[in-house]
Amino acid sequence: GRVICDVHNPDGTPFEGCPRHTLKRAIAHALDRGFDMLVGPEAEFFLFQTRQGEPTTETHDAGGYFDLTPVDRGEDVRRQIVLVLEQMGFEVRAAHHEVAAGQHEIDFRHDPALRTADHVSTFRFVVKNVAQQNGLHATFMPKPIVGVNGSGMHTHQTLLREGANAFFDAGGPWQLSETCLHYIGGLLRHARGMCAITNPLVNSYKRLVPGHEAPTYIVWSERNRSPLVRVPASRGDATQVELRMPDPSCNPYLALAVMLRAGLDGLQQRIDPGPPVNKNIFTMSHRERRHLRIDELPATLSDALDALERDEVMRDTLGEHIFQHFLAAKREEWFGFQKQVSAWELERYLKIY
Ligand code: GLU
Ligand code: MG
Repeated sequence: GRVICDVHNPDGTPFEGCPRHTLKRAIAHALDRGFDMLVGPEAEFFLFQTRQGEPTTETHDAGGYFDLTPVDRGEDVRRQIVLVLEQMGFEVRAAHHEVAAGQHEIDFRHDPALRTADHVSTFRFVVKNVAQQNGLHATFMPKPIVGVNGSGMHTHQTLLREGANAFFDAGGPWQLSETCLHYIGGLLRHARGMCAITNPLVNSYKRLVPGHEAPTYIVWSERNRSPLVRVPASRGDATQVELRMPDPSCNPYLALAVMLRAGLDGLQQRIDPGPPVNKNIFTMSHRERRHLRIDELPATLSDALDALERDEVMRDTLGEHIFQHFLAAKREEWFGFQKQVSAWELERYLKIY
């Protein structure tokens, strides 16, 4: 069983610091403009072995993308997770091994935003519990292992107007509506400002580096997978945009609220997303990227917090209470990290200097 709650003040009014309420406010903001949001997340995670009850970063399989048994020894656990999710009312669309050893992905049906956020919370709880029952540790930490893929939570999103897909236009460029292009424009414009919410850990920024299928450049594409926003090939009712930077350590209520409000700001301000970039941006030279005016995501949590602090739309989305407390708590987390001396620094500097 599960109980999902909203937090209220003693006088019954909604508590400003309640993330679920924050998402409800963003959904109401969309509804005022005639839109409903549908969301499908793709949460990735690792299954690690435990030693004397403590998690390690050792995996138990040698599997890769879409591998099946006997290579993928996590398949049994993954199947059990799917069965529990189905008992809890999830419609699981896909469950497969991901690129890294011990890494998995489970996708569930596109649903209205609030239901999806509830689902992501329940999902993480189920995954961790079923793993533990099998003597494994499941983690949604974005980048647990250096040099291999990290775990993302690509978020597929669509706006509906009176129940119909508002992103599809058979006569539009790439068969996309103006609404869709402006929504993409909003996601790109606010990408830096919302990143601290969608990627909230010091460790989140270790995933957002070139070479491991995670995005770093703020562009969109209707073909290539390296950009931040991808429009998958399906059209008609299945027309959707995929934002690729979020990771599964985020608070799903806040993350969906900031994505929705970023997109809606694109609609309101009629933000042109610019032309799609269908080349692999990672192989472009710095000069070529500068010529195309390609901006980058924040490189650290600290940069992301600075960008959040400057973004008025994000501030309005979160409300003053969450905005101030989030910034303060995360600045403290950043300083905690910054004063550490890492193994990398010792290895690189100790003998030379
Ligand atoms: N794990 C990759 C990431 O960090 C994504 C792999 C994929 O395309 O599903 O975003
Ligand atoms: Mg994936």
